[in-house]
Amino acid sequence: MSDVSGSELRALMARVPSVEKVMASAEFTPLIGEYGRTQVLGAVREALDNWRTSAQSGAASVSALDAAQLKDSVEATLRQRNQSRLRSVFNLTGTVLHTNLGRALLPDEAVQSVMKALTQPANLEFDLDTGKRGDRDDLIDELICELTGAEAATVVNNNAAAVLLALSALASKKEVIVSRGELVEIGGAFRIPDIMSRAGARLREVGTTNRTHLKDYEEAIGPQTALLMKVHASNYAINGFTKEVGLDEIAPLAHARGLAVAVDLGSGTLVDLGQWGLPREPTVRETVKAGADLVTFSGDKLLGGPQAGLIVGRRDLIAKIKKHPLKRALRVGKLTLAALEPVLQLYRAPEKLTERLTTLRLLTRPADDIRLAAERVQPALQRALGERYAVAAEPMFSQIGSGALPVDVLPSYGLVVRTADGKRGGRQLLALEKLLREMARPVIGRIADDALRLDLRCLEAADEAQLIGQLEGVRA
Ligand SMILES: *Cc1c(COP(=O)(O)O)cnc(C)c1O
Repeated sequence: MSDVSGSELRALMARVPSVEKVMASAEFTPLIGEYGRTQVLGAVREALDNWRTSAQSGAASVSALDAAQLKDSVEATLRQRNQSRLRSVFNLTGTVLHTNLGRALLPDEAVQSVMKALTQPANLEFDLDTGKRGDRDDLIDELICELTGAEAATVVNNNAAAVLLALSALASKKEVIVSRGELVEIGGAFRIPDIMSRAGARLREVGTTNRTHLKDYEEAIGPQTALLMKVHASNYAINGFTKEVGLDEIAPLAHARGLAVAVDLGSGTLVDLGQWGLPREPTVRETVKAGADLVTFSGDKLLGGPQAGLIVGRRDLIAKIKKHPLKRALRVGKLTLAALEPVLQLYRAPEKLTERLTTLRLLTRPADDIRLAAERVQPALQRALGERYAVAAEPMFSQIGSGALPVDVLPSYGLVVRTADGKRGGRQLLALEKLLREMARPVIGRIADDALRLDLRCLEAADEAQLIGQLEGVRA
């Protein structure tokens, strides 16, 4: 960089307009209208300071001081600064319930309900019959009981909170018996042994990693025992020489000794997924019926609702949980309840679920339908990427995600991008993946087997049109 001479620099600096003059120019009026005077003033000062700095190293062009050009650059700065950090993306990862991409997408009924709760006062904790203070759980507990067959229910912030609260309320300073094969880490630092100690309960491990017998539970029961607990293994499976004791055996044992059984179901589906050809999971109702005294599960996994933790079970246990001080700290907000209620109501018409409940619609989407989408998007992606890449529509497998049924996969379809020269192109694919992430609405895929893979299962009609439009706006 060539430094400028003193007299040249003085001449350049003399051309910098005053901040007041810039602000008063006609070009800036709409900007001030949109962003407010304070922000625009700050951005103009910054732009002029930056220009002065680059002028000193001889890198500034005088035309950048032109009112129209200055306005464009200030506007770009302001627009970028005011862009939301939480952005919509295209989830083409093939994982339907993707924790890092916000898990379940909610149906329109939930969206409308949340809008109302956001903008209008509501009877969140107000009993409309008596005019007295109410309990927010009253809005939703009967519906949860209807769908699960449980006596009572309560809702907290997420399932991790549900487990923490249940253990704190029912097993503090006492022992909880859990099979070694179920001492799982769910990811994002949720580990059963850690939650247990945070709740002040003592973990009593029984059995071995691969095999646990009823007599292991039986021998562990003592005067300190508060609960027997079963945990859904969620994100892993043990195969081979294994033995797990079912609830049908544990519940009678616990009840004969005057103890309760708690089950952390994780995903906790409310319907038999087998009816749609999906892998079967025990439903919450079956779990309650099989003798669980308490069941905890997530709102935003297979249930298809907002982030929440649902606790259902025996009336006396739920009452104890609701009285615990942590319940207040872990309670849900009105937006969660507003979203959860309409989602649960959809379950009253199970024959319509695959149409109305977004999560289930995506999980049951036929591979042929996804193939047609892939064939429609393929030309747009090929044109956008140009000759250096080859884009093909190919079959692939999606996953349910969020720890549900980890070993099962769903036949799907998507676009596979390889380097056109057939070389492995690791670095080229990484660069492409990054480029897609940098689009106005970022496209999130995954790289596997020397190709970038975009699974189109989660790309429904409106999103498909938007993606094609976005790709058409790209020059290769
Ligand atoms: C997912 C999961 C959790 C955590 O649930 P969040 O709703 O994410 O807090 C706890 N236990 C099991 C078995 C799970 O699968």
